[in-house]
Amino acid sequence: MASTGRVDLDGRPIKAMTICMIGAGGFIGSHLCEKLMAETPHKVLAVDVYSDKIKHLLEPQSGGASLPWGDRIQFHRLNIKNDSRLEGLIKMSDLIINLAAICTPADYNTRPLDTIYSNFIDALPVVKYCSENGKRLIHFSTCEVYGKTIGSFLPKDSPLRQDPIYYVLKEDTSPCIFGSIEKQRWSYACAKQLIERLIYAEGAENGLEFTIVRPFNWIGPRMDFIPGIDGPSEGVPRVLACFSNNLLRHEPLKLVDGGQSQRTFIYIKDAIEAVLLMIENPTRANGQIFNVGNPDNEVTVRQLAEMMTQVYSKVSGEAPLEVPTIDVSSKEFYGEGYDDSDKRIPDMTIINRQLGWNPKTSLWDLLESTLTYQHRTYAEAVKQAISKAVAS
Ligand code: NAD
Ligand code: UDP
Repeated sequence: MASTGRVDLDGRPIKAMTICMIGAGGFIGSHLCEKLMAETPHKVLAVDVYSDKIKHLLEPQSGGASLPWGDRIQFHRLNIKNDSRLEGLIKMSDLIINLAAICTPADYNTRPLDTIYSNFIDALPVVKYCSENGKRLIHFSTCEVYGKTIGSFLPKDSPLRQDPIYYVLKEDTSPCIFGSIEKQRWSYACAKQLIERLIYAEGAENGLEFTIVRPFNWIGPRMDFIPGIDGPSEGVPRVLACFSNNLLRHEPLKLVDGGQSQRTFIYIKDAIEAVLLMIENPTRANGQIFNVGNPDNEVTVRQLAEMMTQVYSKVSGEAPLEVPTIDVSSKEFYGEGYDDSDKRIPDMTIINRQLGWNPKTSLWDLLESTLTYQHRTYAEAVKQAISKAVAS
């Protein structure tokens, strides 16, 4: 590995790496590839079944000059479920980052088998090849492994609900609390928890060098899809894309079960800074499980809907609807077996101590840049789709 001119947090030179990034064509992967190409000399073997979100990194625009990062990124279209090329790519790399997953809540209760296979079974060979070949692994888990907070089981009027000890989520002490088996929502969290335990055990018994990332609602441009435009008309993406779709179509935003659940949202670009620190500081990141979120950006889903309505009106110049939201039951919206995480505040002690990282962007600012992107990218296509539907 050649030196890069970059130094790590302890002042040591960082050597150029080859990174096998599985799930590189998704939302997080596309931002991580962008960052690695723009700011580092590392090479990326980008593995995914789709490449649309990283097309701009792979091919020069028509008539444009060649890309500044040359051939440092190579796309390998393969499904890790059943492709023997995976082990070879892992062997060629210094670091493996696994992002591949089914990770949209609408799938957890309606496609529980696919969800469990994707998040546990399909990740097994990746862990095995890393362990057998002595390769470092950064695995993407989820904040959802915490499940519900202890506070949610206290009486509604209990003053203890205000005590952070009952709701702040800490990597090394918080329990993982899921609903009953028929609440299939938890199939995802449970599969992610088991793969975390397996990776941890590979570290303990076989010396696997690993880092586990638990993202807390990372949002920004290129997240999921807009139904009927760049995804299935009946598809249900995560909340940012659902609400963007409603705003683009001038429809009320749908609040599931009153929109009382709370979330902390972090700007994708802040979160990617944390991942780059993990990549380039193995001695500080190995063996760690990291919460990556922004505890200062907490809102109820209802408040998120109200803020997105205001921000969208500002960036699009369109007046908000008179009735901007409507209530919908979770059964109607997601079907049988849905359940929800009540509140998700990440404890930041471990990531602060190990990597000195903190998020920077306020919820208003991140929504402003994201909704500017959504409006610029989709408004015209949505308008055309609506007029075509009216005409037919
Ligand atoms: P995403 O769906 O945009 O990206 C996942 C990518 O993996 C997709 O491009 C998909 O095509 C690819 N993939 C899935 N199965 C594959 C297979 N068998 N072979 C090859 N490629 C495959 O999701 P994302 O938001 O970028 O999330 C990435 C990871 O982070 C996931 O593991 C997810 O569980 C975790 N995560 C993300 C968030 C968030 O806030 N975005 C929150 C919690 C956890
Ligand atoms: N939600 C909503 N309306 C929508 C989409 C989602 O009220 O159109 C709610 C959902 O029930 C959950 C929250 O928004 O309480 C966040 O959902 P998301 O799909 O982003 O994933 P989660 O944070 O639950 O993993």
